[in-house]
Amino acid sequence: MKDSDLLRSDLVNSDSLKTYREKRNFGVTAEPEPSGGRTETHGQIFVVQKHSARSLHYDLRLEVDGVLKSWAVPKGPSTDPKDKRLAIQTEDHPLEYASFEGTIPEGQYGAGTVIVWDTGSYKNMSKKDGLDITLAQALENGHAAIWLEGKKLSGGYALTRTLRGWLLVKMRDEKADAKRDILKESPGSVL
Ligand code: MN
Repeated sequence: MKDSDLLRSDLVNSDSLKTYREKRNFGVTAEPEPSGGRTETHGQIFVVQKHSARSLHYDLRLEVDGVLKSWAVPKGPSTDPKDKRLAIQTEDHPLEYASFEGTIPEGQYGAGTVIVWDTGSYKNMSKKDGLDITLAQALENGHAAIWLEGKKLSGGYALTRTLRGWLLVKMRDEKADAKRDILKESPGSVL
């Protein structure tokens, strides 16, 4: 990577976390305050946090260019390719957030409890016109394909942007299973 690329990605990242910072009072919430520097990670992290806020939802986060791209999935992920789960894109989160569990105090943004429902690594499988593209590019285009290697979730998932929001759909592969209800089957934290 060239120095100019590093500089550019730092600028992008700090901008990208502006909303995250603005929504939170780090003197009150125990959520991680983004450290100014780059966080070294190996591979690509994904995490699904189960968030019992005003309404229970699952937050899907994918490491992209040094931040966690994030979606709130009200009904949670499914292993059934027939389920199209609405995924509402939310603000980018810092990488440190991937291991966050705890209670966000009353009166703070997202007040309620957070557990790491699943985590692991993902592989980008996104293509356009038969050619490999980066996940950042795929998300910009509105259609991404990823392969998850989590403790609970595994196999291919597609994220597609629609007028109502994104849709998270299990791909038809050997990890698909229409009979499972993975949310009920394993409700707890993986940490
Ligand atoms: Mn949330």
